[in-house]
Amino acid sequence: MRAKDTLKQAGKRKQLVKVLIDKGIKDKKVLEAINSIPRHLFMDSSFEDHAYQDKAFPIGADQTISQPYTVAFQSELMEVKSGDKVLEIGTGSGYQTAVLCELGTKVYSIERQKELFKKAKLFLPKIGYRPKQLIFGDGYKGLAEFAPYKAIIVTAGAPYVPKPLLSQLAIGGRLVIPVGENAQIMTLFIRKSETQFEKHEFGEFRFVPLLEDKN
Ligand code: SAH
Repeated sequence: MRAKDTLKQAGKRKQLVKVLIDKGIKDKKVLEAINSIPRHLFMDSSFEDHAYQDKAFPIGADQTISQPYTVAFQSELMEVKSGDKVLEIGTGSGYQTAVLCELGTKVYSIERQKELFKKAKLFLPKIGYRPKQLIFGDGYKGLAEFAPYKAIIVTAGAPYVPKPLLSQLAIGGRLVIPVGENAQIMTLFIRKSETQFEKHEFGEFRFVPLLEDKN
């Protein structure tokens, strides 16, 4: 069950999906997910009119809801199927979490900003999304308790690749992580064996930083 939605919003969302197809997104399930999630509800009401533009917007606590193209690009790289266990670092508004729920995955998601964590925890079930767990904590550590994951997505710019995220991947699992300080290179690691990882690099993206608690 999704939240109430107007025809106008649904129409704008269809347009957004067309934009994403034009930009090269191919995965039908990802496009369908974006077509069915009321992105305007994940944003401050003052931005509601812009919710279906392919842009990032502020969500409070100095953070942003990612650009739809970025969400689609990362989701496509994860190559998940229904029932897969996945980990997200950076719950933020919960929009990417909702996409992963729409894809039928069992989602664990970590957020380090208390305010955003609380908001997502209340809001997602309200509009029918039930991630397995939303956790308030530090994504650099991953979430060993529920590992291994078929896919891990990092939705903030990581200055380096945190080791725990690689070690919490299942064999054959995929880590999608933007790596870099000012701008980030979208990077995919595929775990080939206990010790071997294949690395692929994609284009440049811009994310808010993955923050490290140095204490
Ligand atoms: N997936 C989100 C993107 C939010 S922006 C969305 O669709 O809205 C990135 C998020 O990562 C922010 O909410 C930020 O607080 C969070 N973040 C930054 N560093 C983190 C860390 N070390 N652990 C967990 N979350 C982190």
